[in-house]
Amino acid sequence: MRALAVEDDPRIAADLSDALTAAGFRVEGTGDGEDAWFLGDTEDYDLVVLDLGLPGMDGLAVLKRWRANGRAMPVLVLTARGTWQERVEGIEAGADDYLPKPFRMEELVARARALVRRSGGHAGALQEAGALSLDTNRMSVAVRGVPVQVTALEYRLLAYLMQNLDRPVPPTELLEHLYGDDDAREANALEAVIARLRRKLGQGVIGTRRGFGYFVETA
Ligand code: CA
Repeated sequence: MRALAVEDDPRIAADLSDALTAAGFRVEGTGDGEDAWFLGDTEDYDLVVLDLGLPGMDGLAVLKRWRANGRAMPVLVLTARGTWQERVEGIEAGADDYLPKPFRMEELVARARALVRRSGGHAGALQEAGALSLDTNRMSVAVRGVPVQVTALEYRLLAYLMQNLDRPVPPTELLEHLYGDDDAREANALEAVIARLRRKLGQGVIGTRRGFGYFVETA
């Protein structure tokens, strides 16, 4: 899962990044509105946490421009004073949820996870498809009810496939969500991760559709 954290207060930005990273996201951050707008408009994020008071371009304007361009990623807005006007403006601009400052990181992470689940069509913390189940609160994996130890990278890969059950995910897209553009790895590195994961999970969990990509087997 790839997240963009937009926050100009360096202390909150660092806490956000730590909390989301610990929750299994690969986090990119910026404190500038123009920068945020560009990143959200050109990159694919599974979640955006957006502060409203930003230098460059304010958060509401950023959000409105994303939505006007058809960018549909889940956006959690951070409001400064928690006034109802700001909340209403945020929701009207296309926010999926909001959190007034100051907030507890635990609450932010819980809301972030709920947003990502909803956007993937999952209602609960437990995601199941075929033999595979993911507990997104504990970040744990089981196959036919038997727990399997996976690395953070392997978990992110499975979580992303789970968010996209309706289609095979191309290797380039998977690499981007696992590593990001600035640290793009070779496709054969991805093949190695998949091969290792298949050994851990056993047969019939991760499928390949040749020429299209990888998927979680649902039958
Ligand atoms: Ca701010």
